[in-house]
Amino acid sequence: MDTEHNTLVAVPRRKLTEQEAQWVRDIVTANREWADVNLGELYVVKQCVCGCRTVVFEEPGSVQNPRGAEHQDVVGEIDLHVRLDNGTESYISVLLHHSWGKLTYLEVVWYEFPDPVPSHWTELGREVRVTVE
Ligand SMILES: [Zn+2]
Repeated sequence: MDTEHNTLVAVPRRKLTEQEAQWVRDIVTANREWADVNLGELYVVKQCVCGCRTVVFEEPGSVQNPRGAEHQDVVGEIDLHVRLDNGTESYISVLLHHSWGKLTYLEVVWYEFPDPVPSHWTELGREVRVTVE
């Protein structure tokens, strides 16, 4: 897998957190090429330890979206404009990647690195962008 993260470590297989599942749903439903796809149950098998919350999915047994089965790309992205509990405003970007029709990882881009992504914030706005062929 080609990610910019080199701090991904294997974790015990687990279901997505509510927030991860919601981000995946928000992106998938915004993309007409993915909106009707049955993703099945997703599991996290690796995550980044830098504090960014990027997670890697277990490879599904079969292709989830045959329409995306010829390349790897971003299904879509959510740009969150947030206010942190300390009053600062910042942005968090969440990108859902697929590889040949299988969801591969959910990348969280955080601009306050090396501070970890906080566990709580107030969402001030969001923009969802999708990649459609
Ligand atoms: Zn990271």
